[in-house]
Amino acid sequence: MRIAGALMALLAGLGAAAAAECGPDKLGTSRIVEVGTQGGLEVGLKTYPKTIPLADHEVILTFDDGPDATNTPKVLDALAAECVRATFFEIGRNAEGLPQLARREVLDGHTVAHHTWSHPQPTLRYLPGGDAAARADILKGMIAVEKAAYGRDFEGVEPKEPKDLKLEAPWFRFPGFADTQDLRDWFSANNVGIFGVDLWASDWIKMTPEEELKLVMGRLDKNGHKGMLLMHDNHPWTAAMIPMLLKELKAKGYKVVHMVAGPGNGPTVAAPPGWVSETERVIGALRPRFDKSAAKVVSGPIPVKPAPTE
Ligand SMILES: [Zn+2]
Repeated sequence: MRIAGALMALLAGLGAAAAAECGPDKLGTSRIVEVGTQGGLEVGLKTYPKTIPLADHEVILTFDDGPDATNTPKVLDALAAECVRATFFEIGRNAEGLPQLARREVLDGHTVAHHTWSHPQPTLRYLPGGDAAARADILKGMIAVEKAAYGRDFEGVEPKEPKDLKLEAPWFRFPGFADTQDLRDWFSANNVGIFGVDLWASDWIKMTPEEELKLVMGRLDKNGHKGMLLMHDNHPWTAAMIPMLLKELKAKGYKVVHMVAGPGNGPTVAAPPGWVSETERVIGALRPRFDKSAAKVVSGPIPVKPAPTE
């Protein structure tokens, strides 16, 4: 086991002890699921026909695009106050700029995973430099996040592939869920898991914390009272909502499940019959904008753009 891995195991133990001291009035973290990515893994029903199996009233909390100097500490304080653990898919350049926050996330017992170096526009799928540019951005981001969050040292390592990095968290989320088949194959060959989501807060749209809370709780209702939820820890409305959300989850009988990297593959559960990718519809709706900025011709129908709060 690598040093960072041993530290993680130790911290996980300490975290469990701390959670036990939180008392029944706190939301807490009800269980930990080890998620293996050997041979590749694709989860999150908005994009893929599989997800992490959850029981009734179980949720997984995930955050993208941090760390952020102002809002991430508020999110971390709120999670700590309720003994709740989450997963943060970080942007590499943000982690490099704020290593103390990336590190704090790990020390607080959260899982820190990967979300590119620069969050490229117009998404990895439509990057003018193609997959070569995408891979370079992804690798750079992985190195920055693993250094900042897990204290990894890549001195003397010349990584050409993610597997060369022996990632602490071999998990990746595509910005905007805009994957490509080549990149999916590349991740599978590197034993990196791709994480979509089951439901999202739509917090890329500015709203009040109360509006966001209502949206999230309503979507949990519609999603059968469970799922892997996406939020963004760089937005002030989300940071302000988290304490309310955790209280509401507790009041409604929800339990928080925490994901950590594990051996093997999965666990996963298949989507219900009739599943379709919702993110392809959204990405398709944005396609004309991408085509323009990428100066690239992409054929195919352009679906109707969904309402922002759908
Ligand atoms: Zn993002």
